[in-house]
Amino acid sequence: MTYDYLIVGAGLFGATFAQQAREAGRRVLVIDKRPVIGGNIRTEKVEGIDVHLHGPHIFHTKSPRVWEFVNRFATFNHFVNRPKVCYRGQLFSFPINLFTLYQMWGTKTPAEAEARLQRERVPCETPRNLEDWILSQVGREIYETFIQGYTTKQWKMDPKELPSSIIRRLPIRLTFDDNYFADPYQGIPVDGYTALTERLLEGIEVRTGVDYLADRAELDKLAPRIVYTGRIDEFFDLRFGELPYRTLSFRQDVYEQSDHQGNAIINYTEADIPHTRRVEHKHFAMMGETKCTVVTTETPGTWHKNATPYYPINTAENDQRYKQYREVVDHERFLIGGRLGEYRYYDMDQTIASALAAWKREVEKPAIAAKPSRPRV
Ligand code: UDP
Repeated sequence: MTYDYLIVGAGLFGATFAQQAREAGRRVLVIDKRPVIGGNIRTEKVEGIDVHLHGPHIFHTKSPRVWEFVNRFATFNHFVNRPKVCYRGQLFSFPINLFTLYQMWGTKTPAEAEARLQRERVPCETPRNLEDWILSQVGREIYETFIQGYTTKQWKMDPKELPSSIIRRLPIRLTFDDNYFADPYQGIPVDGYTALTERLLEGIEVRTGVDYLADRAELDKLAPRIVYTGRIDEFFDLRFGELPYRTLSFRQDVYEQSDHQGNAIINYTEADIPHTRRVEHKHFAMMGETKCTVVTTETPGTWHKNATPYYPINTAENDQRYKQYREVVDHERFLIGGRLGEYRYYDMDQTIASALAAWKREVEKPAIAAKPSRPRV
């Protein structure tokens, strides 16, 4: 066999794993069915501005190890995500913080806001779903203004049917801190995410436009170990049924002005507006005056077989189906990872951490480790 590893998917998980394997002296081939690398973190220049082609990607992490790792391959700027919400034509500070509550209720101090929240909260001893949980934190008015419409269109499900883990990603603060993330490390790669992926894949053979599932018998001959980062249900020909995803569509507009909306992200939280957010990419790159600006309007779409999968829908039923798939993986031959392979709503840092951990397990595995096994006595 020509390679030690065949890695299917040149996204963040595949590229990180490939980098680790190559650094350890393994022979690696990376393939991707798309004509380009980078998976869904890919950025491309439009009018000199890095455009996040598959939705906004802000790198943030609590992990010094992941931050250190990723900084080996990119220089990050100091972008901090402070999105705004537009609801019925009015703008609000977001994520929910003291200023949001001031805009809603006129409360000015943490004590005033807390007293108001105590009246608003809908107590629930064991919140079992997204709606119950958020109502127990902030009450109905905040829920209806910021969460209900956005969540319903994003997931096309009743928030009562969704796990609260989706919303627990967002902080709720009784300070004026409007940083979307509670992580100590945050930024955007100054050369974009495609350059970051290229750096991870430096010195590694990459073939794009190669569809593993269409030619797996031949491709499997290339390496004893295969790292697969695509959809796990497709890997098994949907044997236990389909794992659904949310998909998105993106409309890109170029405006002949320096600044269109004054912020990287504005969320549209009312149910009647089909899009969830508008993203002005130049703000991620912290660019000053520009000739024009690029704005993407993001609209959730209906899932179908050939749609691009963006978000796993981690209901109990789907997670149970995922487990069925996981149980039949031939772990000796295949390693299945990443957002699609693990059916997890991973952020980029979690994807990297997962790939680094997978590599660590790989070298610790007796059969793969270079160490000869000890004879039994
Ligand atoms: N969300 C919301 N209103 C908003 C922003 C987010 O209700 O203005 C909810 C929604 O359910 C969403 C979840 O919070 O799916 C997570 O949002 P996040 O911005 O973390 O999602 P991502 O950037 O990954 O799409």
